[in-house]
Amino acid sequence: MPKLRHRMSKQTYKIAALAGDGIGPEVMREALKVLRAAEGKFGFQLEVTEAAVGWAGIDAAGKALPDETLALCRESDSILFGSVGLPDRDPTIPKEERPERAALLALRKEFGLFANLRPVRLPAELAHACPLKVERQGDGIDMLVVRELTGGMYFGQPKTTETLEDGQQRAIDTMVYTTNEIERIARVAFQSAQLRRQHVTSIDKANVLENGVLWREVVTKVAADFPDITVEHMFVDNAAMQFLLRPTQFDVVLCENMFGDILSDEAAALAGSLGMLPSASLGATSGERTFGFYEPAGGTAPDIAGQDLANPIAQILSAAMMLRHSFNETEAAAAIDTAVATAITAGHRTGDIFSPEDPNAKKATTTQMGDAIAAAI
Ligand code: NAD
Repeated sequence: MPKLRHRMSKQTYKIAALAGDGIGPEVMREALKVLRAAEGKFGFQLEVTEAAVGWAGIDAAGKALPDETLALCRESDSILFGSVGLPDRDPTIPKEERPERAALLALRKEFGLFANLRPVRLPAELAHACPLKVERQGDGIDMLVVRELTGGMYFGQPKTTETLEDGQQRAIDTMVYTTNEIERIARVAFQSAQLRRQHVTSIDKANVLENGVLWREVVTKVAADFPDITVEHMFVDNAAMQFLLRPTQFDVVLCENMFGDILSDEAAALAGSLGMLPSASLGATSGERTFGFYEPAGGTAPDIAGQDLANPIAQILSAAMMLRHSFNETEAAAAIDTAVATAITAGHRTGDIFSPEDPNAKKATTTQMGDAIAAAI
């Protein structure tokens, strides 16, 4: 008797691919190549539509975030973003029309992206790229900074500069957090820890700030819902020191907006190159899908743009984060992470992670690195 065939409909994910400026189009091309390899192997379908943003948007449609691009984002399940901004282009353009503000901040606001995830991983083979002594790197640094992105001092009101009676000026910024804002970011951190080494270090300044006291109380309450995760509270000043003294103690690091801004850059320095660092900014979840915005931590790197020299790994790992966090395609995401590790172990190195002292290292172009990773899927 012939076997019955069940026709399973493939999951389809709509992705807006916004490459932007500088190295953006070069590294995006490689990320899409790797995504296509994963699509072939893991049986989902990607509906990718590319659109202009940044100076490319200004050139194409007169705006850093053209209406068509925004409309595409609204009907997509997630955004894979390159980077925008070219410091040497038209310095007379008003600040609010410049791509960094008009495109990036506008998209963050439009999609309510409240959680920023920045994984920092330093494989043992790239120990030379890290500014810390090898003894401090253990078996390799591997942490995830989860930063609250829409609250705290950067957005709190009042925010103003006023002139006092004696002619002095006084600047005021206000740090504000509500229970709900802390709770939702804490949940993202604990859920992320479940996919990693089950440890959260929550950063605050509870010895000085009211915000710190509330932060610690709410995180402690949320922790009760995650008995599989160990939690530790650390003052931000100590955390800044511990990142340099013993970075291997950290798994997931949970921070409010400003502390996260500073600490995620400190953590990034440990990885040696911006070209290795992906990021995700997450919005609300509906059903099984979380709207997300995925981009490399670095910028448009105008010094190397258009020369096939950029490291595409940050963009490729951002695509893997998209599969994991927006689409729950954890196997495919893990396969991309592993393929990146395989390419590095095989010695492929773009200029930013190349060391002439490493006998295993061979220089790779952007394209060659993307090919090696796609082939390893
Ligand atoms: P940058 O991150 O573009 O470059 C800093 C250094 O890191 C450069 O030497 C560059 O060559 C190197 N680098 C960055 N990414 C790399 C990669 N993938 N491979 C190899 N080397 C890489 O920072 P910048 O020079 O200060 O900024 C350039 C432009 O990018 C500016 O207009 C800035 O506003 C913009 N920018 C945009 C974003 C974004 O779109 N999210 C983020 C940061 C900077």
